[in-house]
Amino acid sequence: MDTVGLFRQNFPDLELSFNYPLTDKNYFKLGGRAEVFYSARSKQEAISLAIFCKQQGIKLTILGGGSNVIIADEGLSGLVLQLAFRELTFISENEQSLTLQADAGIKTSALVARAAAKNATGLEGFIGVPGVLGGAIYNNAHYLGFLIGDYITQVEVFDVKKEETVVFTREKCQFAYEKSIFQSEKDLIIFSAYFELKKAYPDLIKSNLQSAISERERTQPLAQPSCGCVFQNPPNTEALRELFPQFKERDFIPAGFLIDQAGLKGLREGDIQVSEKHAAFFINLGQGQASQVKTLIAKVKASVLAKFNVILEEEVFYLS
Ligand SMILES: Cc1cc2nc3c(=O)[nH]c(=O)nc-3n(C[C@H](O)[C@H](O)[C@H](O)COP(=O)(O)OP(=O)(O)OC[C@H]3O[C@@H](n4cnc5c(N)ncnc54)[C@H](O)[C@@H]3O)c2cc1C
Repeated sequence: MDTVGLFRQNFPDLELSFNYPLTDKNYFKLGGRAEVFYSARSKQEAISLAIFCKQQGIKLTILGGGSNVIIADEGLSGLVLQLAFRELTFISENEQSLTLQADAGIKTSALVARAAAKNATGLEGFIGVPGVLGGAIYNNAHYLGFLIGDYITQVEVFDVKKEETVVFTREKCQFAYEKSIFQSEKDLIIFSAYFELKKAYPDLIKSNLQSAISERERTQPLAQPSCGCVFQNPPNTEALRELFPQFKERDFIPAGFLIDQAGLKGLREGDIQVSEKHAAFFINLGQGQASQVKTLIAKVKASVLAKFNVILEEEVFYLS
């Protein structure tokens, strides 16, 4: 029996979608179709589907909000699973701190707003990060010097290989700039996370939120489809410090700055273009394709390497 037949037979009560167009499920508005697509309403549904995929040898792809991915033009075989459970529970609270648990499917901006409404501080910079918490944990979302993993105490994970739900400490998550264990351990599905946040004056939190929002509006091409920064900020070097003393105190140098200095703003491949507003963003002008993104990435990497001897690495993830 083919994959579609297997799903129909084994999950007759679930509203699965077949040959589902993924264009509307990612911020970049590109990519092909999912052989099978489903939004799991509960952890139990996600567990049943993940175990079924493992037993049947069917490929399983977890999709969060789709704001940090390049989905293949050919589409994705097997099951593409979104997690639609999005509870947030306040666990304990006093004048100094707030502890909460949030499900992987909650919008990152909703989590930030709910914490801020409780006068809890730390997450304000993530107010404009699109997507959901699962995706933010996967890449350890960052804003200026802040990393979301710094505010997490534990992550609840479903280990598909072991078929059990386990709790990872922050240390076990191996959070670093643009890194977490979930990028290398492909059998782990992030289910929820525990946050411990300090309390602060409401006025300070409000002003942090406002400055994060206006800084994004000022610097990012928010009106056009994109996947955010395509490249990670590369580590600073002696040679770069000499060339660009304005960044000499920084450990990392902005990838967008190097791309701009290489004269690549506006460079275009088909309908994909290096943004004029923020050179680390690529925007989709209409009918952009994943293959065009890949070609443009290769061109930008080659120019920056030739000009500054810097190897740029992707911040986005390829789903194929
Ligand atoms: C306008 C714009 C601004 C942005 N600003 C920022 C920013 O300031 N800082 C920043 O870090 N990023 C930023 N991004 C990138 C992106 O929004 C973030 O990285 C975001 O946290 C990704 O979340 P997502 O739900 O969209 O993940 P997706 O793109 O859906 O997925 C990303 C990866 O995570 C995996 N994944 C998702 N959920 C799970 C799960 N539950 N379990 C296991 N794996 C999972 C997916 O398989 C995929 O490999 C920006 C993007 C845009 C378009």
